[in-house]
Amino acid sequence: MIEIIDSTRLKDSLRCLRLYYWRHERGFVPAQPRLPLVYGSAIHACLAKHYENQPAGVCLAAFEEIWSTEVLPHQMTTLEAEDPKRNPLIWAEIFMLYKRHYHVEPFTVRTVETPFLLPLTNDLALGGVIDMVIEYLGQTMIVDHKTTSYLNYKWFSSFNPNHQFSAYLLAANELIKPINPITTMMVNCILVSKAVLTPEKMFDRPYTTRTPNQLAAFKENIIAWWQVVRACRQANAWPQNTESCSAYNGCEYHDLCIDVMYDYRQLIPSRAAYRHQIWNPIENLEKHGLKEATK
Ligand code: SF4
Repeated sequence: MIEIIDSTRLKDSLRCLRLYYWRHERGFVPAQPRLPLVYGSAIHACLAKHYENQPAGVCLAAFEEIWSTEVLPHQMTTLEAEDPKRNPLIWAEIFMLYKRHYHVEPFTVRTVETPFLLPLTNDLALGGVIDMVIEYLGQTMIVDHKTTSYLNYKWFSSFNPNHQFSAYLLAANELIKPINPITTMMVNCILVSKAVLTPEKMFDRPYTTRTPNQLAAFKENIIAWWQVVRACRQANAWPQNTESCSAYNGCEYHDLCIDVMYDYRQLIPSRAAYRHQIWNPIENLEKHGLKEATK
């Protein structure tokens, strides 16, 4: 059976192997929705419709659909008070500013939300969904939409090295096999903000590039790293990376990691704090139209 590595599984495993264990081997997620994740995926859905030339109402309805499915059942009824930076009202305002600011795009859109599955070895494949493929400045480029609370050069420096972007460029080159390598990715950045500021403060589109050598090295890296993940699975031993515990406003599995009553492999978390939801990369690829994912 082929195991699929996507950016979620890769990012979680690199952050902390114990976190990967909780999230992907045991399938626990916090009972309350994680607003940054939901907000980000709702914005992706909205922008996908926008670049399919749908009217603003359809784009915002795509946002609402994800928001109402993921957030409203958890009865977070005072969202503006809960998170004034992430809610449907503020996104509607930011989106209208985005539409005005990028009223005439300088590029031609080739594809929107393109799923891919790239075999890496006999039993390992790289999967993902590329936000957009465009033609710009005489070349084919990949676009990734990113929301951030820090729209600055320090954050831009995290684009290289960056496994997610390397994965997209590797997949695009190996699957499309263009005459000239696709070396450039445009990162379509949108500031997460509780107030709508000027377009210059809200939006930016930096680029990141990879040479064919860098992409070959990335492929070697990822295959080697997954041998480590499989060794953990084989031994049923998942080391903690305590350097990551306080990153991103604190790890959502902290309560499980400080439980002293049980061996962590026997621990059954309280249903009030965690629910069971296995992340299924195949399901995600098929949702975006990749038929071969199940074969
Ligand atoms: S609390 Fe720390 S050790 Fe535990 S899963 Fe999170 S990052 Fe890893």
